Amino acid sequence: DEMDVDTIWMDGEFVDWDDAQVHVLTHGLHYGTGVFEGVRCYDTEKGPAIFRWEEHLERLYDSTKPYDMEISFEPEELTEATLELLRRQDLNEAYIRPIAFYGYESLGVSPGDCPTNVTIAAWPWGAYLGEDALENGIEVMVSSWRKHASSQVPTNAKTTGLYVNSLLAGEEARRNGYREAIVLNKEGNVAEGPGENIFLVRDGELYTPGLSESILDGITRNTLITLAEERGYEVHENTSISRGELNTADELFFTGSAAEVTPIRQVDNVEIGNGSRGPVTEELQQAFFDLVERRTDDHDEWFTYL
Ligand code: PMP
Repeated sequence: DEMDVDTIWMDGEFVDWDDAQVHVLTHGLHYGTGVFEGVRCYDTEKGPAIFRWEEHLERLYDSTKPYDMEISFEPEELTEATLELLRRQDLNEAYIRPIAFYGYESLGVSPGDCPTNVTIAAWPWGAYLGEDALENGIEVMVSSWRKHASSQVPTNAKTTGLYVNSLLAGEEARRNGYREAIVLNKEGNVAEGPGENIFLVRDGELYTPGLSESILDGITRNTLITLAEERGYEVHENTSISRGELNTADELFFTGSAAEVTPIRQVDNVEIGNGSRGPVTEELQQAFFDLVERRTDDHDEWFTYL
């Protein structure tokens, strides 16, 4: 294991990485009944800081609601645990993965008396779609798999089981030589990536699928909307985007805690714009990295300093 990490927080205790294990009859393993988050800590100009931790924590608790899952820790306890986890391992820059899941007790689909286990891990993780991706953009494939409709599962809850769809779409794309997928919703409109929201730039304005398009309410999506509006861009955040509009976009980019702001330079056989990172994407990507690396004083409320 090349990662220089040795500790995981598990149900209230710090345990050795190798001891952070569960029973094979864990409910969440069989039925996908876990909810989780992916969060980044940046080594900023003002010291290490977790980006939008409070919003991620709120989404984690919100994600438990449809499943009647009770996290037995207060948000403040999870915050303290995470800060301590990072400090103990000298992690100034990390990807943080909190998860709550139905554990081991009985194996009916009804979780019955299954406990809700909560763990938090953190490790160094570079650019999710590759370092070159941030600069040059990526080639993506419109997946033959559709997103689950929000009438079938709550797509705004970040639930482990839903990620089989992400895996199918992403691996299909990679098998075909692309870096990532774009997934359409049941209506055939653009939803999101397997782990990213998507933005389209046309005639100097931004468009992103609305929350009713079966997407996750991404925190980076919200960040980019804010940054764009502050820079005078019109942002249409309640739209439907048809598949064909991808082809005629001036620019496209993905957002996500893992993917950050990744330009898309080709969709299927079609080059987007001039086939490289476009100027609006570049400006907003720069604004994003200036923000998260604290080269600005803007939005200090979005940072939890270690
Ligand atoms: N959509 C999906 C399906 C995701 O898994 C993610 C990553 N959490 C996103 C969008 C982006 O969300 P965020 O910006 O909050 O990381």
